[in-house]
Amino acid sequence: MGNTYIQNLKDCPFCGGKATLVTNTGFQREIVSACVECEKCNASTALYAIEKTAIKAWNMRGEQCT
Ligand SMILES: [Zn+2]
Repeated sequence: MGNTYIQNLKDCPFCGGKATLVTNTGFQREIVSACVECEKCNASTALYAIEKTAIKAWNMRGEQCT
């Protein structure tokens, strides 16, 4: 498991918990996949190659949540 850090992440749309960016890095320490996960209920986005996309997907999900 790679670095875990938070930037501009909205709270979980399901439980209001804190969201965390989770990245997986390869041999060259490059990010090979990233997703955003809720620390409380473990809701998460799909895996994306770029962490910014994962963050965007998470934030958009929050907006779309009813
Ligand atoms: Zn949650």
